[in-house]
Amino acid sequence: MKRFEGPTAIVTGGCRGIGQAMVEKFASEGATVYAMDYVSPDNGSDYIENEALRPSVKCIQADVSSEESVNAAIKTIVDESGQIDILVNNAGITRDGLVMRMSEQQWDAVLNTNLKGAFLCSKAVCRPMMSKRKGRIINIGSIVGTIGNAGQANYSASKAGMIGMTKSMAKEFGSRNILVNLIAPGYVMTKMTDELNEDQKNAFLEHIPLKRGATPNDIANVAAFLASEDSSYMTGQVLRVDGGLEM
Ligand code: NDP
Repeated sequence: MKRFEGPTAIVTGGCRGIGQAMVEKFASEGATVYAMDYVSPDNGSDYIENEALRPSVKCIQADVSSEESVNAAIKTIVDESGQIDILVNNAGITRDGLVMRMSEQQWDAVLNTNLKGAFLCSKAVCRPMMSKRKGRIINIGSIVGTIGNAGQANYSASKAGMIGMTKSMAKEFGSRNILVNLIAPGYVMTKMTDELNEDQKNAFLEHIPLKRGATPNDIANVAAFLASEDSSYMTGQVLRVDGGLEM
């Protein structure tokens, strides 16, 4: 049985990695999903391997760090589908460096995409959700938002900021039945972590009780739970999906 009955979902950064896995999962569970990405694929939803899911996936270009770009994309989606039920703020970048060498540009790029981007997208969808008195916002944070990471002051600050934002929005939107939660993944095997060298990867694995990195599907399954009726009494929560790395 499918989990959803025809909702409209948006996944930012939905054309790759964890975002793509969530797009596929939501589509397989009965949602129409807009993959909102910085660069939209040339051949639309053809990047989705399972051909049967492609009609349920639409690609829309937007830079989440720009209010103008976000508002234009959300307007297109509302005009097309008449509703937005689920937003996943997943788009994220890293620009690593030690604080003493980190440039203002590295700091701003990460905060603007990861934190401001999530704020702008949430702001843009909250009106249509409020008028329906129903909605789900799922933020993709990181365990480094609570434990920190040398070389990632900008990234961990953005992810820590998302926790505060999640809880504030949960309090603001709760009376309208809009639930806001955050998933904090640990080490997930995507292009983002491909950039780590073998020593860095092994250091992670050594500290993960489950002795493996997460697949994007491990995260997508929890996102589907948070988007479904199964989690209808949960809001303002941080769910760590990290194989036990942080405990
Ligand atoms: P990827 O780098 O594989 O994918 C990120 C996606 O976001 C890309 O499609 C990228 O587009 C898109 N994106 C980047 N900037 C923007 C923007 N300004 N506007 C719209 N889209 C944008 O990352 P992951 O799948 O690994 O990560 C997804 C999320 O999970 C991120 O928030 C990340 O911080 C978080 N996370 C990841 C972990 C991991 O181990 N991988 C661990 C913990 C958290 P483009 O390809 O065009 O750049």
